[in-house]
Amino acid sequence: MNDLYVLYRGPLASCNYDCPYCPFAKRVDPPHLLRADRADLRRFTGWVEATTDRRLSVLFTPWGEGLTRSWYRDAIVRLSHLPHVARVAIQTNLAARTGWLAAADPRVAALWTTYHPGQVTRDRFLARCRELDELGIRYSVGVVGLPEHYDEAVALREALPPAVYLWVNAAEGHVYTGKEERRWTALDPRFGDSVRPHPSLGLPCRAGDDAISVLGDGTVRRCHFIPAPIGNLYDGTWRAALRPRACTNSLCDCHIGYVHLEPLRLRDVYADGLLERIPAAWP
Ligand code: SF4
Ligand code: SF4
Repeated sequence: MNDLYVLYRGPLASCNYDCPYCPFAKRVDPPHLLRADRADLRRFTGWVEATTDRRLSVLFTPWGEGLTRSWYRDAIVRLSHLPHVARVAIQTNLAARTGWLAAADPRVAALWTTYHPGQVTRDRFLARCRELDELGIRYSVGVVGLPEHYDEAVALREALPPAVYLWVNAAEGHVYTGKEERRWTALDPRFGDSVRPHPSLGLPCRAGDDAISVLGDGTVRRCHFIPAPIGNLYDGTWRAALRPRACTNSLCDCHIGYVHLEPLRLRDVYADGLLERIPAAWP
């Protein structure tokens, strides 16, 4: 049986950064929501621990920033030591301390990091990357491909070790000229995957078959982009819901979705690095 890719997103939506392109910038979660997020995550990690009949790969995709919260750090450490967990990764702005990762298994724990110019200096971000290198933690680094980020992205690429993959996400709503596309592609050879949304209606997608999206209350959906539930994690109904399906959306324009869209064959490109976004052949 194939591995099951599980994307988890609890109610947490607060973030310590204030990116102008983000609806979650500097949002503050009230204490009751933080308590609920923590309890939901505890329940989810318990499910991962108990679900030993499949190899699991888990990606935390919080709306806001998770690593400033102890419960995400603890969950990553805990899950990284489970024999049936192949990967546990999180999307993060890398603002938080990294020392806690020393307690995680570096063969399993990984980070999908994003550099947000204007929120943190390049030097400070690079210092965090060096900490990850010293800890032996796998990570990718990304930037949003806004014109005003370009010089920072070039400088970041030059400063990062060649072994670290730098990805560029097309900025939402931005239409790239041929020239712009070429210069971003020179930084990230896979920018072409991101630059335009992928027509997906009717095409086979593994989301809902061996990849699922899970909300804090256990609602299971195919992916983060099709809201219809297909089951629940905690009553076991997710198991019978898994089957190959065609996409019902006209477009798929997010990496965490279209990596499962079969005609793109991106699972071959990323292989074991699928969740933390590191192509298998990099560098
Ligand atoms: S770091 Fe991420 S979640 Fe936080 S404001 Fe920026 S884009 Fe939004
Ligand atoms: S192609 Fe994208 S939107 Fe469609 S099912 Fe797959 S992940 Fe979801």
